[in-house]
Amino acid sequence: MNIHEYQARELFERFGVPTPKGNVAATPEEAEKAASRLNAKSLVVKAQIHAGGRGKGTFESGFQGGVHLCASPGEARDLAEKMLGQTLVTHQTGPEGKTVNKVMIAESVDIANELYLALLMDREQECPVIVASTEGGMDIERVAAETPDKIIRENIHPALGFQPYQARKLSKLLGFSPDKMRDFGKLLHALHRLFIDSDCSLVEINPLVVTTDDRLLALDAKFNFDDNALFRHPTIAELRDPSEEDPREVEASEFDLNYIGLEGNIGCMVNGAGLAMSTMDIIKHFGGDPANFLDVGGGATEEQVTNAFRILVGDPKVKAILVNIFGGIMKCDIIAQGIINAAKSLDINIPLIVRLEGTNVKKGRQLLDESGIALTTATDLSDAAQKAVASISA
Ligand code: ADP
Ligand code: MG
Repeated sequence: MNIHEYQARELFERFGVPTPKGNVAATPEEAEKAASRLNAKSLVVKAQIHAGGRGKGTFESGFQGGVHLCASPGEARDLAEKMLGQTLVTHQTGPEGKTVNKVMIAESVDIANELYLALLMDREQECPVIVASTEGGMDIERVAAETPDKIIRENIHPALGFQPYQARKLSKLLGFSPDKMRDFGKLLHALHRLFIDSDCSLVEINPLVVTTDDRLLALDAKFNFDDNALFRHPTIAELRDPSEEDPREVEASEFDLNYIGLEGNIGCMVNGAGLAMSTMDIIKHFGGDPANFLDVGGGATEEQVTNAFRILVGDPKVKAILVNIFGGIMKCDIIAQGIINAAKSLDINIPLIVRLEGTNVKKGRQLLDESGIALTTATDLSDAAQKAVASISA
């Protein structure tokens, strides 16, 4: 789960990570008031969307940039008016962009130096890792690709936690003066505590800045929380903004379906994450493009199968549906009944390719045959994928 920058700012404050003052607003009037309350010499108005690259983004209206400096509450109001309700396209949103429903008005600071700092899970080392760079503010992926030596990594021992010597080491590598080292060490400790206590999988600060009056501040923040740990953090779970998420995924989560929306046109319904992954691979192998990952799980009910179908059929991008079920715990006849129910209640007018194998397969096939539903059966996974790809190009 992701959160907005203004929510991240509050978490930073709570855990003692220094960050500029800021207030959120949903209307231009609120923006003006929020700006007045800050009582700051200069301000910045920032579009709140779950995507980075806002500074260099473009609004559908042609207005450039989702991050703007200004000097007065009146100007903040005008800027908010240009952003609110508009779609902002950045290199992270995709061409469809994201609607700006809120803006954050923050105190603007004079920047002497922009750095990059992140804390995330290192899956290979099985522990958290700090990633830092002197090259903050710009596209960190490009820095990593073009000048990988400028990316510093420091693993954190899961049992010992973050150690003071690590703060000194990183501080030196980032070129901080000895008196900055103390501030940086405090910031790292606070950030690490926030990361662990909140079950984050990523906290990224880009940029972390040194101001001209020599303060160290987190100017931007991206958070990622481990969804499987959210039950331990009801106050964080409340920060979820479904309007920022893929509507297909929001709907799927209501039915406890493991669904990830993708860009292709072959809707997939599979049981088991591994089989779902290989189904996507084999579709690609035969020149097609999956519209989603969907693992209906080992113990899916008929109702879940029907709902899964509804999501696939409701996706305008989906031009064919491939059902690939290996009945182990899940029985083929349950899936068949789900397909029949869905086909009867929904108007499926796209090709449906079904491959069933395993427990109760005979009963499942019989149910499908007798239902009179138009579908193509496949003998194995390759056959199914080829038929699905062919049904679209036909
Ligand atoms: P994004 O990464 O989505 O483009 P940022 O929050 O990083 O958004 O803002 C883009 C740039 O705007 C920053 O790199 C920084 O130079 C400037 N900026 C952001 N917040 C402030 C602030 N509070 N004061 C001064 N400059 C800021
Ligand atoms: Mg940024």
